[in-house]
Amino acid sequence: MSDHVCQKCIDPNCGATFSVDEVLTACPKCGNLLDISYEWDKLPVPKSLKEVEKYWAMRDVPQRFSGVWKFHDLLPFADLEKCVTVGEGQTILQNSRGVAKYTGMNEGNLFLQYEGMNPSGSFKDNGMCAATTHASMVGATRAACASTGNTSASLALYCSCLHTMKAVIFIGDGKIAYGKLSQALDYGAQTLQIHGDFDDAMARVKEVSKKLGIYLVNSVNPFRLEGQKTIMFRVLEALRWNVPDWIVVPGGNLGNSSSFGKAFHELYELGLIDRIPRLAVINAAGADTLFRVFNEEKIRWNGGNTDRAKINAFFKQMNDEGRRANTIASAIEINRPVNLEKCLRALEWCNGVVRKVSDQQILDAKSQVGACGFGCEPASAASVAGTKLLREEGVIAPTDRVVCILTGHQLKDPTATVAYHCGDPKKFDEVLRPHGVTTCAFANNPIKVENDVDDIVRAIEG
Ligand SMILES: *Cc1c(COP(=O)(O)O)cnc(C)c1O
Ligand SMILES: [Zn+2]
Repeated sequence: MSDHVCQKCIDPNCGATFSVDEVLTACPKCGNLLDISYEWDKLPVPKSLKEVEKYWAMRDVPQRFSGVWKFHDLLPFADLEKCVTVGEGQTILQNSRGVAKYTGMNEGNLFLQYEGMNPSGSFKDNGMCAATTHASMVGATRAACASTGNTSASLALYCSCLHTMKAVIFIGDGKIAYGKLSQALDYGAQTLQIHGDFDDAMARVKEVSKKLGIYLVNSVNPFRLEGQKTIMFRVLEALRWNVPDWIVVPGGNLGNSSSFGKAFHELYELGLIDRIPRLAVINAAGADTLFRVFNEEKIRWNGGNTDRAKINAFFKQMNDEGRRANTIASAIEINRPVNLEKCLRALEWCNGVVRKVSDQQILDAKSQVGACGFGCEPASAASVAGTKLLREEGVIAPTDRVVCILTGHQLKDPTATVAYHCGDPKKFDEVLRPHGVTTCAFANNPIKVENDVDDIVRAIEG
């Protein structure tokens, strides 16, 4: 299989290629990120996306049941039988009337893609099955990641199912939602709480995994991003292969946005779609590197001639000012997104925009996703808050078809949800106020009532 596939430096001025049998997290020649690159003309590519439907009837083949590997033809870096799966990608696209109304979209035009339905409860499983497939290909016995929580939950789950690989997890102390930490511990991962934040944990895991020869599965891993392309394939599948107008996604380490751009770019090049949707990447206001780089510094991919000196100067200033990411949306609490350049490329390919939303906007939007659908964790709701903002600005039209990616499950971060709804001033001061939240406009307060039938009846009837 590795005949017509390679790892390729994303910098077109370098363009170095490497075998997929190598374990790399950056181009050894220039240090830039790597892509998985295919010689499509030598591979059995479907002639239309509809052709993929033949796999729907193959539920008995674990890889075809997988919402990722049923699209194996579009990410063929490993033999199908060797692809790792725990049944990821059984997710749905919901048309939400309530969220359409909240965001100012026409009824019927707002869709929620629930990636929280994955086995570990976040979209990360789409990428982790691909990364662990590659790790297995190269015989890795340990895999590591730094994580704000969901990457570690996902890696821990895959390792607990695989038995051939041990998970080593780096998290910042005090910066992880309980749902996610509980998963890492329950799935038996070796869990290191580093004294620092995510950006610190990320720096250390790179050094340590190199030193100990541990396979790194952070989204610098190009194989992970291949798996995440399938989120877009499933969106198209749910829309009966029609291309929506907008994909709106929260931006943290920018792996998702990068892989979405690659997915659409490849489909377009292959002639499988006739236009590319626009991409909107939404930062939390307290972790807004992409927003600043794109909208204030005006840095662009520019066909691969990104102004790196300007990016470096930006990060140097961030260091000098001691700026740290801070948002209640812990999954996107990241100030040094590792896929920054790939995301700039995706924004170019998809005529994209970048916005930022406050924690107040995020939690209000989250309450709408809960009240009008299956719910989500705070970071995911940035996509809905961002859609509302872009609608208000007139960038998105009410008649556009918009897909918001809900990246993580409602149960991941009960602390934020309970603090928003419970009406307890102490919890509010503890959990929400430090993040600049001032109101809980959509709170669904629990009703306190005496242990008495008449009182209860009165409470219910109002
Ligand atoms: C990881 C994660 C994100 C951020 O995605 P990136 O690919 O890092 O930009 C957003 N939401 C949730 C729930 C996540 O787990
Ligand atoms: Zn290079």
